[in-house]
Amino acid sequence: MTTPLLGLSLPELAQALAPFARERFRAAQVQRWMTERRARSFDEMTDLPAPLRAALGERFVVGLPEVEARTPSEDGAEKFLFRLADGAKVEAVFIPAPRRRASGTGERVTVCVSSQAGCALACAFCVTGRMGAGRNLTAGEILGQYLVVAREKGFGPRAANVVFMGMGEPLLNVANVSRALDLLAAEVSPRRTTVSTAGIVPGIRELAKRERRPNLAVSLTAAEDALRTRLMPINAQWSVRELFEALEEWPLETGRRVTLEVVLIADVNDSPEAARALSRLARRVPSKVNLIPLNESPEWLPGLARPADEKVNAFGALLAASGVDVTVRWSKGLGAAAACGQLKGRETPGRVLRVPAPSVRS
Ligand code: SAH
Repeated sequence: MTTPLLGLSLPELAQALAPFARERFRAAQVQRWMTERRARSFDEMTDLPAPLRAALGERFVVGLPEVEARTPSEDGAEKFLFRLADGAKVEAVFIPAPRRRASGTGERVTVCVSSQAGCALACAFCVTGRMGAGRNLTAGEILGQYLVVAREKGFGPRAANVVFMGMGEPLLNVANVSRALDLLAAEVSPRRTTVSTAGIVPGIRELAKRERRPNLAVSLTAAEDALRTRLMPINAQWSVRELFEALEEWPLETGRRVTLEVVLIADVNDSPEAARALSRLARRVPSKVNLIPLNESPEWLPGLARPADEKVNAFGALLAASGVDVTVRWSKGLGAAAACGQLKGRETPGRVLRVPAPSVRS
C-alpha cells in the first residue's frame, strides 16, 4: 500500500511514521522535506537513515501530482496539467510577478490552484463548468499543485501568493480547502492567500470562523438576481441579498477588503445600468472590483463575446466615478488557455459532456 503523506498535519504525520521511526523529530524532518525542500520521494531526503527511507518507500509516497503537460504563454504565465493518483486531471497556473516597481521592491509570483476536478456550478461563461461536477481534491492534492509549481519554477517559501481560482468551487470543498490553508500557512501567509467563491453562503460563513482567514473574492458578475441567476445558476440557491448579508458579516481586518470579480460579457452585463447596479452593491462592503473582460472560447462558449476595450473602460470609469475602487484585469495566460474560466483539465473538447449553450442574451 502506498499512502500519500502530503496533506497530513504534523501530529498525523508523527502517528503515521511512529512504527518506522523511533526519533520524534523525524516527522518534522519529513514534513520539511516535503514542503520547504520540495522533495518528490523519500530517496531525496538524504539526511534520513537509508533503512528508514526504504521502509517509508514501501508503505508511503509523498503524493505529489504528476505533471502531464506544461503550456507556457508569451507573457510568462504557464499552465500545468496534473494527473492525480486516480487519473483525475486538474490544472494550476503559474503567473509571474508584475514588473518591479521603480522603488525596486520585487513583487511575488502567483500560483492559481484548483480545488475540485471539474465544477458543478455550470456558470454560463466558464469553460470548467462545461465539464460537470468533479470530485473534491484532498488537501494534499491542493498543496501538491503549489509545491510542484514552486519546484519547477524554482521559487522558495514566502515568494508566492496563492489563489484558489482554478478549477472547481473551493467552498463546496471547505474542509479540504481549510486544511490546505493550514498546511500552506508555513509557506504562504494567509494574507497572501485568496479563496474565490461563486457565492456559496454557508461556505463563506464557515470560512469566516477560521482564526487565520484568507482574503475573500466573490465572483459576482451581475448585481441583479434575474441576470445573475441566468449567468450563475447557483444564484437561485443563494440570492444576491443573502450573499451580501454574508459579506457584510465577513470579518475583515483593518485595511482589508473583499474582492468582487465581474466577468464582462458583451451585450449581456456591460451596460451603464449594470454598472450602476453593481456600484450600489459594491459600496455596501469594503471592497474592490476586478473587471475581467470575458476570455472567449468559440469552441466551449459559443455566442459569448468580450466587450470592446472602450466598453470595458467605460464600464470601469462609471464604477470609479461612483467611488468604487476598480481594476481591469487584462488576463495573463491567454496564450496558454490558462486564463480565468479557461481551465478544463484537457487539451481538446473531445469526449466531454456537451451542454447546450445557455441563452444569456436578453
Ligand atoms: N468557483 C470559484 C473559483 C473559480 S475562480 C469562483 O467562481 O469564484 C475563476 C474566476 O474566473 C471567477 O471569478 C470567474 O468569474 C472567472 N471566469 C470564469 N469564466 C471566465 C471567462 N470565460 N473569462 C473570464 N473570467 C472568467
